[in-house]
Amino acid sequence: MSLASVWSEPDLDAIGRQTGVIRVEHSVHHSAYGTIALPLAVFANGRGPTVLLMAGSHGDEYEGQLALTRLIRSLDVTRIQGRIFVLPAANLPAVVAGQRTSPLDGGNLNRSFGERYTDTPTGQIAAFIAEELLPRCDVFFDLHSGGSSLRHLSCSYADLGEDRATAEKTFAALEAMNAPLSWAQGGIPAAPVAGRAALRKGVIHLSGEFGGGGALNRADLRVAERCTWRLLDHLGILPMAEEWRAPVSTRFVFNEQAHFTYAPHEGVFEPAADLGEEVQPGQPAGYLHRPEYPGEPPVPLHFAAPGVVAALRAMGRCRPGDCLFQLLGEIPRDEILRRIGALA
Ligand SMILES: [Zn+2]
Repeated sequence: MSLASVWSEPDLDAIGRQTGVIRVEHSVHHSAYGTIALPLAVFANGRGPTVLLMAGSHGDEYEGQLALTRLIRSLDVTRIQGRIFVLPAANLPAVVAGQRTSPLDGGNLNRSFGERYTDTPTGQIAAFIAEELLPRCDVFFDLHSGGSSLRHLSCSYADLGEDRATAEKTFAALEAMNAPLSWAQGGIPAAPVAGRAALRKGVIHLSGEFGGGGALNRADLRVAERCTWRLLDHLGILPMAEEWRAPVSTRFVFNEQAHFTYAPHEGVFEPAADLGEEVQPGQPAGYLHRPEYPGEPPVPLHFAAPGVVAALRAMGRCRPGDCLFQLLGEIPRDEILRRIGALA
C-alpha cells in the first residue's frame, strides 16, 4: 500500500467530536519528513446534511478564522443532526504569516482549484479540499474578507450555479443567512476558485466578505458568526441561539466587470467616495498622485457603473492594475427569483 502525501488524522466518516489535523507532506532542509499540520474539526451526529465551514484560505482575513475557532470550542456535538467539517486555518502557512498567500510557495489557495493541482503545499491543500472533503459535503461555506489590500463591506455571497434546483437551494440558504448585504452571483465562476470546485462536485457554494483592511473588526466578526449559525439552523444541523433570530433588512446585489476601478499607473490613491456610498457612472472615484513628480497634476478617476462601494483599496501606494474600488449593483429579490425560474 502506498502512503498518501496528504492525509487526515481525524476519521472523516466517524461519528462524534474529533479535533486533529490534516497533514501535508513538506520535506525541507530542516525537516526531511516534515508535515504542515492544518487544524481540522469533525462533528458528526444523527442524520442530516454535511457542511464544510472554512476560513483562512487567505491568511490575512481574520473574522472567519475567529468565528470558526470559537465554533470549534463551543459546539456540542450531541446537539447536531448531520456533520460539520471545520477548517479554520485552511492555508495554514499563510494564516501563521498573516498573509494572503503562502510564504512557502507563493500560492493563493483560492486560485488553486483549476484543472490540475500543483505539487506545492498550497496545491496539495486545494486537492484535499476538492477531492476528499467536498465529495462528502452538501454545502460549503468559505469565509473571506477583503484582506490587507481591501476594506470590504460585510456581505454574504453565493454562486447560484447553472441549474434551477441548485440555484433555488443556494438562494434559500443565502436568504437564510440574512446578512445586511446578500450577493447572489449567477452561473459558475470562471476563475480557479473554491466555488468552481464546489459546483463541479455538486456542492452548494456559499461565501462572504466580512471586513478587511488587514485588521479584525468586531462588527464584521458578528456578521460572520451570524451567517454561520443561521446557515447551520437553515440546514437543520443545529438550531440557532436566540441572539441570531431577529431578521435584519437585507439588500441583494450582484457584480459585473464595470463595477471595478483599477489604477492606470503607479502612485498614491486618494479616494473620492467612501465604503457603503451609492455612486453613479461618471462620478469622481478618486485621484492618483505621484508625489515624486510634484509638478504633475493628479489623474482623476471615475466610476463606470452605478452601485454601492463594496470594496475600497486599503493601501495608499498602488501599482498599475491594482483594484481601487469594487462596486456591487443592487438587484430586486423578484428579479433574482425570475432569473432562477428561467433556468432549466
Ligand atoms: Zn479571501
